[in-house]
Amino acid sequence: MNELTCLIIGGGHVGLGALKAIKEATGGMANGRRIRFVLLDKQPGHVRKVLLFRPAVSGEEIMLPWTHWFPEGVEFVQGTVTSVDSGTKQIRYTDAQGKDARIGYDLLVMAVGSIVRRADPEQGGINLTDPQAAADIRERWRANLRQAAIETNPEEKKRLMTIAVAGAGISGIGTSAELAFAMREEPSTLGLNPSDLIIYLLSAQDRLFLEGPEKVGRKLNEILGECGVTVLYNCKAMREEAGVVTLSSGDNLKVGLCIWTIGLIPNPALRTMGLPLTPEGQVLVDECYRVKGAPGVYSIGDCARVIDPGTGRADQMTCKEGGMQAARLGKVVIADLEGRPAPSHKEVMDAFCIGLGENRGLVWARKWGLDFILTGKLAWKTKKLAWELASSLR
Ligand SMILES: Cc1cc2nc3c(=O)[nH]c(=O)nc-3n(C[C@H](O)[C@H](O)[C@H](O)COP(=O)(O)OP(=O)(O)OC[C@H]3O[C@@H](n4cnc5c(N)ncnc54)[C@H](O)[C@@H]3O)c2cc1C
Repeated sequence: MNELTCLIIGGGHVGLGALKAIKEATGGMANGRRIRFVLLDKQPGHVRKVLLFRPAVSGEEIMLPWTHWFPEGVEFVQGTVTSVDSGTKQIRYTDAQGKDARIGYDLLVMAVGSIVRRADPEQGGINLTDPQAAADIRERWRANLRQAAIETNPEEKKRLMTIAVAGAGISGIGTSAELAFAMREEPSTLGLNPSDLIIYLLSAQDRLFLEGPEKVGRKLNEILGECGVTVLYNCKAMREEAGVVTLSSGDNLKVGLCIWTIGLIPNPALRTMGLPLTPEGQVLVDECYRVKGAPGVYSIGDCARVIDPGTGRADQMTCKEGGMQAARLGKVVIADLEGRPAPSHKEVMDAFCIGLGENRGLVWARKWGLDFILTGKLAWKTKKLAWELASSLR
């Protein structure tokens, strides 16, 4: 009998999780037919997106080769998917040589995720969008510090030693804390005083961490202060030009570098793929992640609008939520293949894990109406474990 082709599009945290879950749930067979697994991604390796700030602070490599996960049993195709034809069950993609190509599927998991929201080019600064942008950020602050070491004008020296991180969500909080930690190492070798470094985190809100209780926001503010990060509240950056950040209040900040960390949006490539989308651009799925009107097609992770049928609440774009969807998808797929009722999506417990530089972190979870908060080294270790789980390294 012919084999079934299971095609996973996107080898981010969620695509990798889906592949593992479907392999495990099916054992590589369905109704006596062997399942051929194909992973298609536009990148030559898995980008550890949750560690995007790392190349900005330490130059660490965050792309791992696909062979790390699949020594055997999975074919990898490098290409950028352009459309899905659910009638003929084929996808169209541009291969690594730039040629138009197609692959047929029986089962398809769309997991092309999200991209980092960009400030407009005329707003200046550097958007922390990908490993190359992160490397540019590192290059810039290091060059600024070298320049500061020979600068005789105190005002200019201060500007060169000042950074503004615009956007105080989880990635802005983590990036500013890690920068403060990494940058402290550099000045003494250049004859600069580390306490002259100024890192501003600009929040458009009146507190941090809108995902949870106010007391967690206050705790984060306190830890960031200890790290050397000053949070400016109700303070939206409008643009950076020639070393001056203009704020919505009309005030200015003189900086050597402005970094934008303004959140995630669903992958815009979905707009032309031919799948049904919400107005915000996420794939419309039912409670078992099946894409409406496209038999055999599922979608999960940042690119899908996943709603708990019990509470009516939508999942957020996080590894935790996408990871749980991926684990459940294995059971959904085998149930669908065998014609049994499939499990429905259920939202996960409210919890967050935030890294704040070496040996500093904060973990928050809410259970039975109670808030559990963990800080310090243990929280940092928990966060490190979460980063490894996010890339299926454990
Ligand atoms: C700086 C930063 C920090 C974060 N920190 C946290 C955190 O602490 N905790 C947390 O839970 N979440 C965090 N997130 C969010 C987390 O990264 C995402 O929720 C998670 O990566 C979603 O996984 P995904 O697989 O759905 O999508 P993605 O990680 O976006 O992966 C999508 C994959 O699809 C591929 N792809 C895209 N388009 C195409 C195409 N057209 N054709 C083929 N392949 C394609 C990409 O190359 C990629 O491999 C952070 C995000 C950022 C940017």
